[in-house]
Amino acid sequence: MKFAHLLPMTLIDYPDHIAALAYAAACNFRCPFCHNSELVLPEETSKLHLIPENDIFVTLHERQRFIDALVITGGEPTLQPGLGRFITRAKHLGLLVKLDTNGSQPEILEALFRAHLLDYVAMDVKGPPARYDELAGVHVDINAIQDSIRLIIHNAPDYEFRTTIAPTITVGDIKETVPMVSGAKRYYLQRFVIPQDKALVDPAWKNKQAFSEEELGAIWEQIKSAFPAGGVR
Ligand code: SF4
Repeated sequence: MKFAHLLPMTLIDYPDHIAALAYAAACNFRCPFCHNSELVLPEETSKLHLIPENDIFVTLHERQRFIDALVITGGEPTLQPGLGRFITRAKHLGLLVKLDTNGSQPEILEALFRAHLLDYVAMDVKGPPARYDELAGVHVDINAIQDSIRLIIHNAPDYEFRTTIAPTITVGDIKETVPMVSGAKRYYLQRFVIPQDKALVDPAWKNKQAFSEEELGAIWEQIKSAFPAGGVR
């Protein structure tokens, strides 16, 4: 697999666990509000010094006493051949594995579930079906998205769905997104925040207004009865 970065330790990316965080390079979406443009745009990813898989494992071995999990994020990790083999190596170290995904590759998710390789899956749901292509920046097979949601709900030992409430997403959009994740045990509305020194996939979105934390809290109150757990973060 091709990795752009490895964060040796994170306390916030795997609920209740201390994890290392590996960033897979490349993505098949072009969400205009994405702040990981260096992992998404080919003209940016081509400038990265990719970390060989074996070097990732050297660090994981060194950190083994301090971490109990590995989070694989991106980019979109399911695009890369060898993901199953990579996770198998991580599990041989005794690590729990969380996968972050955009849900575009349900057949890969299915194979990983069949092999019992995933302990936690976090899937981004971009918004309501009618706006999916616009919010993903590419044409998206919405049936594949729904298949991934179903697979996760029925197979993942633990999971969450989340929607980044990017600029232009309305209260109506959020309410139309809720049925897509009907039956899920956990759903989050994520605040749109641009970390310092990060460039968006579409820089024009930097100046667009998104809901504040307080506004999202009020929206969550309107939808929270649909989910056993979740909230705003
Ligand atoms: S936010 Fe969109 S473009 Fe960025 S990594 Fe996730 S799916 Fe890819």
